[in-house]
Amino acid sequence: MGETKRNIAVLGSTGSIGRQTLDIIAEYPDLFNAWLLVARSSADLLIQQARQMRPHMVIIADEQYYEYVRDALEDTDIEVATGSAAIAQAVTAPEIDTVVTAMVGYSGLDSTIAAIGAGKRIALANKETLVVAGELIDRLLKDSTSVLYPVDSEHGAFYQCLVGERMQDVDKLWLTASGGPFRTVPRERLETVTAADALKHPNWSMGAKITIDSATMMNKGFEMIEARWLFGIMPDNIEIVVHPQSIIHSMVAFKDGSVKAQLGLPDMHLPIRYALGLPDRRLASDCRKMTIEDMASLTLERPDFDKFPLLGTAYAAARKGGTAPCVMNAANEIAVAAFLQDKIKFTDIYKIIEQTMEQAPHMAHPTHEDYVASNADARTRASRLVEKLQFNN
Ligand code: MG
Repeated sequence: MGETKRNIAVLGSTGSIGRQTLDIIAEYPDLFNAWLLVARSSADLLIQQARQMRPHMVIIADEQYYEYVRDALEDTDIEVATGSAAIAQAVTAPEIDTVVTAMVGYSGLDSTIAAIGAGKRIALANKETLVVAGELIDRLLKDSTSVLYPVDSEHGAFYQCLVGERMQDVDKLWLTASGGPFRTVPRERLETVTAADALKHPNWSMGAKITIDSATMMNKGFEMIEARWLFGIMPDNIEIVVHPQSIIHSMVAFKDGSVKAQLGLPDMHLPIRYALGLPDRRLASDCRKMTIEDMASLTLERPDFDKFPLLGTAYAAARKGGTAPCVMNAANEIAVAAFLQDKIKFTDIYKIIEQTMEQAPHMAHPTHEDYVASNADARTRASRLVEKLQFNN
């Protein structure tokens, strides 16, 4: 890693992954320096983080909070900016070594593309970037010195299992899923579950959006697409396996019949620590280490595609390619937001995604502008469907 500290940009610093990334930066003050912090609208937390971490710059994406943040940091030499163009500009700063992309949803795309253009090391926590535009990102990475390191625990596991292996020796990826809060809830009851029920995740403490994605298992569908692009493996060679204890973070099966797994406690600090240590070291930590009891009763089962239809939707979208996953993601963002506001039923999330995908025009080889247009179009369609369902409910 050399003697100089790595300057890190944390996009989405006030979210769950962002806050845990700042923990890791603070854990290794000799190695890392928070150079840029970006938040969407959590102004007070951003101000607090800025005072603690003393970055060169902070950006509050939502312009209505700009003056508030600027005034609050007036007595410091921290630069304050606002707007999404400022984010895409700031990540290209030559001082920045690593960009951690931990913002929620589609909003991660533009700044990730800018960071690739500037040849940055990217610790990718925003899986929607690869769901929406994996094909484009894959193409851009081929023409760039930029590298993507996964922060998602499952993809961190694949990465670790694949160190020293040849991709042509891989038979399949086994993507583990906790099964979410509704794994043992009967299918019929899913009609009436509330946002509060869905927000009680058994193992992982995460943001609201990903917790709902975990309850519908859309998150696992997204992660399948994320793995498809990160490791260049076809969707049909990625198998989802439910593992309720979340100790096995994923596995790789090889053509000689061997299987490698990566295990650890369900704590996002671990994959973040691993990603920030790449490519050359593991960062020793005083974190709680796994015991025999932690792994004494691990179980694995097949996922229920009938009860969680979005798993099948994700495979279909991945096989179709083009703008299909972008449309799926946009509809999901709208549907999840509506569910969190108690506007629609849990099972309406599937309906909105399926109907939006049926209606939206498809493009097989989209450009960046096409993704932007497809995202906007799908969001409009999905919002209309929300209104219709709300009226009927
Ligand atoms: Mg994950």
